[in-house]
Amino acid sequence: MKLKVGLVRGDGIGPEIIESTLKVLDKVLKDTDKSIDYQELIAGGVSLDKYGVPLTDDTIVQAKQCDAILLGAVGGPKWDNLEGHLRPERALLGLRKELNLFANIRPVKLFEALRHRCLLKEAGNIDIVIVRELTGGIYFGKRGREMTENGQVAFDTETYSEMEIERIGRVAFDYAMLRRKKLTSIDKANVLESSRLWRETMHKLAKEYGEVEYSDMLVDNAAMQLIRNPMQFDVIVASNMFGDILSDEASQLTGSIGLLPSSSLGQGKMGLYEPIHGSAPDIAGKNMANPVATILSAAMMLEYSFGMQEEADEIVKAVEKALSTGMLTKDLGGDLSSDQMTKAILDNIA
Ligand code: NAD
Repeated sequence: MKLKVGLVRGDGIGPEIIESTLKVLDKVLKDTDKSIDYQELIAGGVSLDKYGVPLTDDTIVQAKQCDAILLGAVGGPKWDNLEGHLRPERALLGLRKELNLFANIRPVKLFEALRHRCLLKEAGNIDIVIVRELTGGIYFGKRGREMTENGQVAFDTETYSEMEIERIGRVAFDYAMLRRKKLTSIDKANVLESSRLWRETMHKLAKEYGEVEYSDMLVDNAAMQLIRNPMQFDVIVASNMFGDILSDEASQLTGSIGLLPSSSLGQGKMGLYEPIHGSAPDIAGKNMANPVATILSAAMMLEYSFGMQEEADEIVKAVEKALSTGMLTKDLGGDLSSDQMTKAILDNIA
């Protein structure tokens, strides 16, 4: 069986971590009846350089024909001064919107071997899934600037419909049902109208999912609780911006942002899989990037889009074994290059 995977190598460390990931996928699929046809998708800074826009219509059409998309990272200082709609990150927003990938799943798990890297002195079992709404909210609302007597005024609008909230809420409740049956919904309902609708809608859903222990938490408190006692969380559901910020914060509980994978899902099995980190321009081209987050994103792809649980587990185990034998890149306090880390993972795949 041939699987079709769109590859957005992207900018900065993107091409390096994708290359590492392809080696792992090759090895894990070698003795199976499945193989992957890769379709190169040009998006982000490279697309700006080539076509003058971060995402072309052609790339969107090609992306829609894929069974899944694997993405490195986009962006970098070279394109930082461009107008908002031309920034490389627009490619990501465009792909998510065009493919209707409204749910971003970000698992945050502390590997036993990296307990010493956790910020907390007495960390227990940190195992959280953050479900972030991805195609609505302030990243997609009306924005603009106006000239006033006080100089320029800029605005961005947080907008959510009941449909969008219910849709992401169901994904989160379903996840909770598969795990420890505990869901925390993040909002700022003491101030924001959009958060009040968010909370009301989640409460309606909570009645349907009677088995799930549901609670609300204000985002400022959540930022504090994640550091104070992350073990209290099982599944967290949050709006686009709150989920973005809290998941970067949570990444530090695991030791490095270079470890955390994510999937962006819609209604079907098609998904976009990418590390939660960016293009890390400070270490690009230096063979220093930690490839683990992207490799684990590929494992999520095998599991969710292709139903290949065994092969996905094999990748996760290989990563765990490599880490537990002290194979660590610089961001984790070790001295392995990106290539050496990739080899350590490959060596642990049967
Ligand atoms: P970043 O995540 O790229 O880097 C933050 C810090 O973490 C840097 O010190 C970097 O070296 C380190 N880091 C990140 N990934 C690492 C890895 N795999 N291994 C080792 N160290 C790693 O965030 P930033 O510096 O704020 O953003 C850089 C660029 O990436 C910007 O243009 C930003 O817009 C873009 N960005 C893209 C995405 C994406 O493509 N999904 C996400 C976030 C930021």
